Amino acid sequence: MGERMENRIIDRLVRIAGRDGVLHTPEDLAVYSYDGTFAEGVPEAVVLPQTTEQASEIVRVAAENRIPVIARGMGSGLAAGSIPVCSGGIVVSFTRMNRILEIDTANSAVRVEAGVVTAELQAEVEKIGLFYPPDPSSIRHSTIGGNIACNAGGPRCLKYGVTGNYVLGLTVVLADGKILKTGGKPIKDVTGYNLTGLFTSSEGTLGLITEALLRLVARPRYTTTALAEFDSLDNASRAVNAILAEGIVPASLELMDRTAIACIEEAMHLGLNTDAAASLIVETDGADERTVRGEAEAAGRICTETGARTVKVARNEAERAGLWKARRSISPSLARKAPNKLGEDITVPRSAIPQVVEQLRGISARYGLPIVIFGHAGDGNLHPNILFDKRKRDEWEKVQAMVSEIFGVALAAGGTLSGEHGVGVLKRPYFEQALGPVSVDVQRRIKQALDPLNILNPGKMFQD
Ligand SMILES: Cc1cc2nc3c(=O)[nH]c(=O)nc-3n(C[C@H](O)[C@H](O)[C@H](O)COP(=O)(O)OP(=O)(O)OC[C@H]3O[C@@H](n4cnc5c(N)ncnc54)[C@H](O)[C@@H]3O)c2cc1C
Repeated sequence: MGERMENRIIDRLVRIAGRDGVLHTPEDLAVYSYDGTFAEGVPEAVVLPQTTEQASEIVRVAAENRIPVIARGMGSGLAAGSIPVCSGGIVVSFTRMNRILEIDTANSAVRVEAGVVTAELQAEVEKIGLFYPPDPSSIRHSTIGGNIACNAGGPRCLKYGVTGNYVLGLTVVLADGKILKTGGKPIKDVTGYNLTGLFTSSEGTLGLITEALLRLVARPRYTTTALAEFDSLDNASRAVNAILAEGIVPASLELMDRTAIACIEEAMHLGLNTDAAASLIVETDGADERTVRGEAEAAGRICTETGARTVKVARNEAERAGLWKARRSISPSLARKAPNKLGEDITVPRSAIPQVVEQLRGISARYGLPIVIFGHAGDGNLHPNILFDKRKRDEWEKVQAMVSEIFGVALAAGGTLSGEHGVGVLKRPYFEQALGPVSVDVQRRIKQALDPLNILNPGKMFQD
């Protein structure tokens, strides 16, 4: 149970955000005490601002009273970043700031409030032939603010890049309540430090993002999606490298291992071949039908040459949607196999994937707990998910040791801890191991300069 907030502070928050914009009953607070992980922490109050000015006033009250402020989108995070871990604090939830403020077709840009659900933004711009490419698998239950704060990726990053590649400018409430505006519509802008880049992936530790100006591109007119099934995961990884070595850049190259395929099929009954050792979803897209089809055929041929036993091309939109439904269902379907899962997010140089997969399997065998492997193989971004039962102490102890080994494998291969989920609480112990003391010191100094009272999402990223 969290702390109880003083009435005088609740009253001030109510004056700012209205009675329906402040939650403080135990039942309401419980709803904001978790995210996509198994971490928990109860806030003292939740405030749902409707404007940047309200967010700024909330932070001023928090700063005056030295109360932690934890920004929250939809709580889909996989690093416990939106969980209040330093006893209580105010969760600022952006779900009521969910308007699309402007679509500028001439400059291919869109201005949105931070709480817009990513899928809703995508659907809206696609109606007029534009395209917002970043597509985390949580697209229907995550916000643009949360995506920017974590620099979210997704299956389409291989060709289109991550969220940060689409952020042109931000409105940010700083730790003292001041409102900072960064960037703008010009594509080129080197006037001063890249503050837009600084706040992107800052995980709520440097400021509250209230608005964003995002870059759009033309919607690809043709898309081809195929499923290649392999008898060995090693061959599937080799196919990824061979496709890219040929100069083909698919929008997506998604890898799923045997356990992932079995879990999806058990949960969704989509007709996937459960005796395949691994599958690749290969999607090519673009403006020219012949080029798109040609790339898809070449990728299919390479899959066959590297050992795919079948390559099935989706014949219509329904089949294509089925393949993506399968991919997006992996995470939720794992719940059928074990009460808990810990999903990691390591990224390694692509060429190292076969060796890293082999090492992950070795870790799984040594500890006797399953590791399901899937991910954005084209980016070298793997999501090894350890399945376990947190109620069993010995399993939880094994999981912690396994995580440490998984990070060791990634770093030894020249990779990194996280490709898209961020550091939050869960990767804090490994932050310095991954970056080295000089980088951590520079980042600490940035944090101290922007948030000297350490009220913005304390207890995240850095080991105190
Ligand atoms: C099934 C599933 C699939 C997923 N797939 C992907 C994937 O493919 N790619 C990917 O990158 N991630 C994925 N994720 C992780 C998660 O969805 C992303 O990290 C997402 O960007 C979080 O958005 P959110 O709105 O839910 O943010 P939250 O979880 O609420 O917050 C995440 C972090 O951002 C900060 N934050 C949130 N809003 C703001 C704001 N307005 N200003 C400042 N800081 C803020 C929080 O303090 C916290 O540190 C997945 C999660 C699930 C559960």
